Formats: sequence, structure tokens, C-alpha cells
Amino acid sequence: MPSTLLADVRHLAAAVGFDLFGPVDAATFDACQPRDQRLTRVLPRCGTAIVLGTAGVQLDSHTVEVGLQRVSDRLRVAGHRTVIAGTRAHKLSFPRLADAAGFGTVSPVTGLLLHPKFGPWLRVHDVLLVEGRPFGQLGDASISDSFQPCCKCDGQPCLEPPQAPVLDPVVKCPIGKDHHCHSAPPLQWPAHMPMSPMTRFAVSALRFVPQLFRFRR
Ligand code: SF4
Repeated sequence: MPSTLLADVRHLAAAVGFDLFGPVDAATFDACQPRDQRLTRVLPRCGTAIVLGTAGVQLDSHTVEVGLQRVSDRLRVAGHRTVIAGTRAHKLSFPRLADAAGFGTVSPVTGLLLHPKFGPWLRVHDVLLVEGRPFGQLGDASISDSFQPCCKCDGQPCLEPPQAPVLDPVVKCPIGKDHHCHSAPPLQWPAHMPMSPMTRFAVSALRFVPQLFRFRR
């Protein structure tokens, strides 16, 4: 039963800490993407993509790897070949996939993905591409039509001039402002290495950039 398999896979992902889980119909997604960023370019018979992310929890790279493998193994046992997209290598768009998975809305003001609770403080770890449609036909999960926070945002504080040493305007977004510490911890600088004033300034600013966008847009 497709719905049972979906519940199994969702449970496996949640068990390792992926609190953001979103299956996406590949044909629907690809129809709106540039040719070089389509899922079927990476896996020609891709029918489904599973977007895996976190908001409010931390996952180290080993845990992420284990989680991806468990989900992949479960699907393979059910007869569906999978490819761990390594989306950075394949040039897939994390924000567009996260939007399609229903994680949030891309702000027309800042261009950052905003989650209803966590604001910009979320991270997409990877995307699993699956041959066929193991979960059956998927509906549209995007919330971008119903969740448009920037349209009602008085003053748009993200556009206010930055105050050093905090350079990134996203820290002024009121959505999820209480959650940034959970998903983007301060960078740890090796104690034995002296930091120049300029490096200290850059590190201080980088800690406020949502992890989702540290790696690609
Ligand atoms: S501060 Fe307001 S306008 Fe800016 S990204 Fe957040 S919700 Fe949108």
C-alpha cells in the first residue's frame, strides 16, 4: 500500500531527526523548472523527490547520512531505485524544492525561504530522488499561496539598514526570531588560531545566515 510505505518512510526520517519531510511529484516540479535543474535530468525515471530537512533541531553529517541511507534502503526493499541527489553537485534548487515540499514560502522581499514557525531558520539537508511513484499521485503541498507573511509585514524590518556587526538583514525578520539559535549555532573558531579584526567581523556576521542558504541558493 503506497500510504503505508509513505508512513514508514516518514517515520524512519523522523526517527533520525528530520523534522521536515516532504514528498514532491517530479513531473509537477520539473514542469516549472529550467531544463538544467530538473529532477529527471539527474534521474531520468524519477517520479518522486523526497525533501529532507530540519528546523529547530541539529543534525551532524553522520546522522544525516544514516537517515538518508535508511530511507533509501526502505524504498529499495519496496522495489524503488533511489538516488541521493547530492543536490549541490547536481545544481538542483534547494529553495524551490523546499517550497514545493511545503516547508515555507520564498520571501519576495529577501528571497529567503520562510517557515511559518521557524522563519528563515531551517535547513534542507538533501533530496532523495525515487524512480516511479511509490506513494501514488501526490498533491500540491506548497503553502506559498496561503502563507504570504511579507504582504502583511508592517515596516519590513529586514530592509532596515544593518547595524554592525550583524550584517545580514534576515536576523530582523520577526518570524522565527526565537529559533535561530537552534538551527544556526555560533561558529566555533579554533582557540589556538588568532583572529584578525576583519575575520572576527566576518565570522560574527556568518553565524546569522540561515544554514539553508550558506551552501546554495
Ligand atoms: S521582515 Fe517582514 S518583509 Fe522582511 S522577510 Fe520577514 S516577513 Fe518578509
